[in-house]
Amino acid sequence: MLPFTFRSYKRKLTLYRKSFRKFLFVTEKEPPRGINQLSKLTEPEVWKEVDCLTCANCCKKMTPTFTQQDLKRIAAHFNQTPEAFKKKWLKKDRSGDLVNKNQPCQFLNLEDNKCSIYEIRPVDCSGFPHLSKRTWSDYAYIHRQNLDYCPATFKMVEKIKLLVESGNADKKRAK
Ligand code: SF4
Ligand code: SF4
Repeated sequence: MLPFTFRSYKRKLTLYRKSFRKFLFVTEKEPPRGINQLSKLTEPEVWKEVDCLTCANCCKKMTPTFTQQDLKRIAAHFNQTPEAFKKKWLKKDRSGDLVNKNQPCQFLNLEDNKCSIYEIRPVDCSGFPHLSKRTWSDYAYIHRQNLDYCPATFKMVEKIKLLVESGNADKKRAK
């Protein structure tokens, strides 16, 4: 299977963003039968085509939310107090969540797109982009936001949309 490159993601996003967003709006309100199972079946296929190390766009253009546990763990790794770490690197967003001050993330190695605190990274990073973590109708609005940044999300929506609109969703689930 050919890799889904970042360049081809950007090209396809320009072409299909509007129709994908519409699909996410419609299916959020009226989820097609079996779409949650479909997204679980589709996720491993997405990761065969998308390589995060050729992308890292989430680490460059978005920010994780840091929980108090993340804060304690990561600050301790740098022999800092959570307060000192917070003052140096974090701010509160409009919802009061702790997020990065800087973009790209201060822990991203721009030479190789690797996270320099991979083993202890925020829980939010370790699960991103949460392709099939929650039900489709609970998460479609997040997919809608992530579509603009994340090739894996784009690929997931592309595959599901194709299955649903071609009438092949039931066949896929029965395999
Ligand atoms: S999770 Fe998405 S945005 Fe982040 S590196 Fe992987 S493909 Fe890129
Ligand atoms: S902590 Fe690591 S995985 Fe999370 S945004 Fe920063 S570089 Fe990316």
